Amino acid sequence: MDSNNKNKLTLFGPDFPFAYDNWLAHPDGLATLPEDALGSRVAIVGAGVSGLVAAHELMKLGLQPVVYEAGRLGGRLRSQPFPNANGTIAELGGMRFPQSGSSFYHYIHKLGLETKPFPNPLSEAAGSTVIDLAGQSVFATTPDDLPTLYKEVSDAWTEALESEVHFSALHQAIKTRDIEKIKALWNPLVHEWDDRTFYDFLANAPSFKKLSFRHKEVFGQVGFGTGGWDSDFRNTMLEILRVVLTGCDDDQHLIVGGAEQVPRQLWNLPCENLPHWQTSISLGDLHDGVPKPGVRRISRLDPAANHAKFNRNKHSNSGPIEIEDNYGNTELYDAVLVTCQSWLLTTSIATDESLFSQEHWMALDRTSYMQSSKTFVMVDRPFWKDINPKTNRPNMSMTLTDRLTRGTYLFDNGDDNPGVICLSYSWMADALKMLPLPVEKRVELALDALEKIYPDTNIRQHIVGQPQTISWEADENFLGAFKGALPGHYRYNRRMYTHFMQRELPTAEQGIFIAGDDVSWTPGWAEGAVQTALNAVWGISNHFGGHCSQQNPGPGDCYDSLKPVNLDP
Ligand SMILES: Cc1cc2nc3c(=O)[nH]c(=O)nc-3n(C[C@H](O)[C@H](O)[C@H](O)COP(=O)(O)OP(=O)(O)OC[C@H]3O[C@@H](n4cnc5c(N)ncnc54)[C@H](O)[C@@H]3O)c2cc1C
Repeated sequence: MDSNNKNKLTLFGPDFPFAYDNWLAHPDGLATLPEDALGSRVAIVGAGVSGLVAAHELMKLGLQPVVYEAGRLGGRLRSQPFPNANGTIAELGGMRFPQSGSSFYHYIHKLGLETKPFPNPLSEAAGSTVIDLAGQSVFATTPDDLPTLYKEVSDAWTEALESEVHFSALHQAIKTRDIEKIKALWNPLVHEWDDRTFYDFLANAPSFKKLSFRHKEVFGQVGFGTGGWDSDFRNTMLEILRVVLTGCDDDQHLIVGGAEQVPRQLWNLPCENLPHWQTSISLGDLHDGVPKPGVRRISRLDPAANHAKFNRNKHSNSGPIEIEDNYGNTELYDAVLVTCQSWLLTTSIATDESLFSQEHWMALDRTSYMQSSKTFVMVDRPFWKDINPKTNRPNMSMTLTDRLTRGTYLFDNGDDNPGVICLSYSWMADALKMLPLPVEKRVELALDALEKIYPDTNIRQHIVGQPQTISWEADENFLGAFKGALPGHYRYNRRMYTHFMQRELPTAEQGIFIAGDDVSWTPGWAEGAVQTALNAVWGISNHFGGHCSQQNPGPGDCYDSLKPVNLDP
């Protein structure tokens, strides 16, 4: 194995420890297709990061991706410009990207995008943090400034991870990419923790049992990195373990100018010297600049009856899949990649039931989504840095609270530029409280809550322009923010994640692929969406008779030795 990232913590497994970053970086490229497959068209449903990474890589192999998008290019990487504000943005979706996400960063670097540390609680980038719980505020610049109770909570968490899930050993195995060790340590944990919630872990860990309920409460509000972990208390502990083991909650950066630049620039990125494509070409060029409309139907056509009107892929017998867009236009494809949220296959897209097994339908429909709401205002300048003479502290700090704002983040765009405040970033019940409310009411409620924490700071006098808000669950193209797997969902995750390995599927179920946040082991992190897109690229290449170089085997080539543990062998 190439050791580019050896000893650096990355999202390497633990379920499927394949080195996606090395596969991407290898000079041999991802795969080679047979001549007769070059130029074949592949439908991609959804132009989020997963769909566009797949489209970009398939185009590089010499296929013709045809991208359909029902809403806005970029999907859940949505950097909403404040109107009339010259590039000042609100990150309505993904906004902080752990540096361990090495495949997502592969594209950030390729596009030459600048990143900088995200102003997370208690980080240097935040400057200062206020934690306001049960009506009491604590001001801190580093974790060491926090009262003893917080230290006890943090120590209990570290101890619980060590005593219950041999954290350090597993962490080290992921860092050093020791596959055997990862499997030996992780697979038993899957058996043990799939059925159990995050809260169960906390309630029963000996280190927390010694402490008061208040300690668990504080842990839920403040978390161990980015705050607000009580929203995840109902989720399977496996999901939390993946986050902490692979450093998703650490060392996060924002993308200067907005995360949406990743999908947008991938769309416009010209590529040269590609098989099949004679000249320099971008995804945008292939689509005359604009993706096709949303998809409303996906059906399997009878291969024999449609042979004449379809230039059939000689490497598969599965037959054409028909895509119908929202205007009733239909086209035939030999392969289709669906990257939108899986519920949409039963709500907005009429999908032939025969395309997936009933077991897969069960998994697709059982996906459980986290709700999330964010509300932003633009302010004239980063006034929060001014020192309040009464308190001798900044006017305002990054704020974690049990009030309805939950997390308030401050984005400093320079002293002479408008600043941005994410007044409130919340999940689950806290996000649902906002769901029916118009933006003005959301802003009012958030300002009221913050005034109780900062009675001497007049935030209102600094607000300029129009506020921006989102509830992802209210958008028919999403229905939720991201997956949050429940206890007992490992089997569903496994079915969806491994679907790209189609060799054992009946022919009638081949040729349709799934990727994206729902398919990922680490939902809510763009890295997972990218990794699943790369699995689909391998699957689609294989479907057209392609193969990877021996020096650079792909995820499907390594599948048998890396495959996720099966709970029902
Ligand atoms: C609030 C929030 C905060 C997040 N924070 C972070 C973070 O800080 N760090 C991080 O790494 N990740 C974060 N994420 C997760 C990250 O944004 C996602 O993992 C990633 O953007 C998902 O990309 P995707 O391509 O899988 O899906 P999407 O971005 O959802 O793309 C799917 C696309 O399909 C389109 N679509 C839907 N229906 C149809 C149809 N019928 N026809 C055609 N197209 C259709 C949708 O419009 C969408 O554009 C966050 C997500 C949210 C919502």
